[in-house]
Amino acid sequence: MEKYYKLLKNSLKTKREKVRTGLYLHYPFCRSKCSYCHFSSFIFEPELHCQWLSTIKKEIERLAFYLADYLVIDTVYFGGGSPSLLTPEEILSLLLALRHNLSACPEEVTLEVNPAAETDRVQGWLQAGVTRLSFGAQSFDSVVLGVLGRHYRPEQTISLVKEAVRGGGRNINLDLMIGVPGESWRTLETNLQALRELEPHHLSVYILEELEKVPFRRVWEESPRSEEEVAETYAHYQVRFEEAGWSQYEISNFSKPGFECRHNLKYWRYEPFLGLGPSASSHLGSFRWTSPGLLGEWAAAVNSGEADLPEFIELRPEAELRESLAFGLRLREGISLENLRRRFPAVDFSRLENKLSRLAATELLQIKDGRVSLPPDKFLVSNSILSELLW
Ligand code: SF4
Repeated sequence: MEKYYKLLKNSLKTKREKVRTGLYLHYPFCRSKCSYCHFSSFIFEPELHCQWLSTIKKEIERLAFYLADYLVIDTVYFGGGSPSLLTPEEILSLLLALRHNLSACPEEVTLEVNPAAETDRVQGWLQAGVTRLSFGAQSFDSVVLGVLGRHYRPEQTISLVKEAVRGGGRNINLDLMIGVPGESWRTLETNLQALRELEPHHLSVYILEELEKVPFRRVWEESPRSEEEVAETYAHYQVRFEEAGWSQYEISNFSKPGFECRHNLKYWRYEPFLGLGPSASSHLGSFRWTSPGLLGEWAAAVNSGEADLPEFIELRPEAELRESLAFGLRLREGISLENLRRRFPAVDFSRLENKLSRLAATELLQIKDGRVSLPPDKFLVSNSILSELLW
């Protein structure tokens, strides 16, 4: 990994200012594996947990050795897996390692929390420096939770969120899943009732998908939900959330004013981010890379410092432009064409502009005040619009 850090250091040396970047820490363990999960996650074992902790601290040190002078870490995101298996003391030790090695004083520190987590940890996480708690509620309908095989009851999520508010939590997200077999209009009303009671600052709504290679596929095949049903459910959430004051700022994300997730905005605005931990992805300048996905391979790569990263690539400006459009068009604010031209001066925009005009003429895209965006009622078909635009 060291040769890559040296390459990155050389690319950053020429910058006049330090680069502001987000830092994602991937904690890969869960108490059990959900049958619909397609993430990189393994069953929790105390020895593996300790190995992860010591290795990620070493990875922080290696990163800092080469790049500390060139970066400002302004957001941190503990994702997984189930990073709520980390104790407050462990979170604190990681944040101190970031401060000590990278002078990181992040403005936003998110922790993903499984609703089955121990309630008495919540206050400790906040005191350790977590500023944003993201609860993987998935649903407040016990039928849906049962179908998904989640090991907690809706009341547990509700009491955990209330505990977070009592403990000083001032920035709370809830994840919801839609498109689950067994979901009904009652589910929507049950979820909305719980949300009215909890008033979270932020909501993420994901559609159950990518089931080809996971055991849940069998459940899905027995009682699938049609694309039309899922689209109708999504549209209802869009309307009801807007009515209740959660404004949609991204295809899957809604927030009260000022509570957009700053870390995730970096992905969509095509700003730099670094990922540490197994299978974590990074984007710095025109470089992209992903860490080895298996715990042993990742630990060996960090400890030896010599591993090859087959997925370390440098993108050409045309490919970067395509990526920035693909991410930026997920945002309701869309993307500024002027900024794109400034950022990629060597790219010929004429072909892209023709396609943009064609798609705008059929109202699949909108171009207003120099920004191009998708109409919110086209968010769910964004993939087909993007494939027409970008290829
Ligand atoms: S809790 Fe999340 S990461 Fe862990 S197995 Fe379930 S879906 Fe996957």
